[in-house]
Amino acid sequence: MKKDQYGVFGCPINHSLSPAMHSAAFAALGMTDCEYKAYAVEPENLKREILKAQADGFVGLNLTIPLKEKIFETGLIIPDEFSKKAGAVNTLHFKDGEIYGYNTDAEGAFEALEDAGCVTDGKKILIVGAGGAAKSISLFFSERCNSVRIINRTVEKAQILAKEIREKTGNQNVFGSGFESGWNDLKNADVIIQTTELGMGKYKDVSVYDKLPLEENKTKSEMIQECLNGKTVFDVVYNPEETVFLKESQIAANVKTLNGVMMLIYQGALAFEIWTGKKPDVNVMKEAVLEALSKKRNE
Ligand code: NAP
Repeated sequence: MKKDQYGVFGCPINHSLSPAMHSAAFAALGMTDCEYKAYAVEPENLKREILKAQADGFVGLNLTIPLKEKIFETGLIIPDEFSKKAGAVNTLHFKDGEIYGYNTDAEGAFEALEDAGCVTDGKKILIVGAGGAAKSISLFFSERCNSVRIINRTVEKAQILAKEIREKTGNQNVFGSGFESGWNDLKNADVIIQTTELGMGKYKDVSVYDKLPLEENKTKSEMIQECLNGKTVFDVVYNPEETVFLKESQIAANVKTLNGVMMLIYQGALAFEIWTGKKPDVNVMKEAVLEALSKKRNE
């Protein structure tokens, strides 16, 4: 019997933990007729590959770098209100001859924070980065938080994103700037969400703190202790599980740190629910993700 097909499209894709995570969720629910695989898809082939998936009877797909924004150019999907506003889609649902688009990344980030006991409603959020992940996260939190500041290496990107979000949400307390006043921005925030590539891949030894100009006669450690006490620091990176940014943040008193593992799991769980109408077991998904991460570490 032909299985119900699910998968993730991206490029590169061999790093993806989604097949392990979703396969474990299907197995735990006894859904042995469902299969989830990773597919390497170049941006220029996206439209062709999505049409092929539709013709092959796929039920659901996830999109990852660099396809989340590219998908709009294909003209194939009906995006929901949030993904349309965010300009990025990470979940496709093939249903009744249509292809519906959703973005579960930001809600995944929100659920991960809730899961860690961090209430964000009405709080002051600092987002580091203005790329794809930052776009949906800053939009989501601007709709429910007191204020959102976006700081980014390329200042104009942070400013443009903040302006777009002010217009889309009506929240006038959304600001964009560079790293120059980063320590002050950290001090003024309740929750810090790190969304750049710092701490992973070729930047694995670099922390956000290395990018912020130090005050005269003060060390990085002193600045962290001065600005980070009592904050929640969330790094959306999940490989490595503890970035240098998270490690250094722990110098401060009463700081709560979390990595991107639970965000990955919750964004996946939300997609799973859209496709199947069933709530997957997030503990099973977490076990599968941690096992896959540990295998990758030993490769
Ligand atoms: P992206 O669109 O390429 O954005 C990259 C961001 O990193 C930009 O803000 C960029 O700044 C910044 N950056 C890159 N190199 C830098 C450097 N040397 N110094 C300072 N800033 C630098 O990527 P993305 O899609 O947003 O993904 C970003 C991260 O989020 C990745 O690590 C990804 O794995 C993670 N992520 C995690 C989850 C999860 O479920 N946990 C979900 C989605 C994404 P400029 O604008 O100045 O270039």
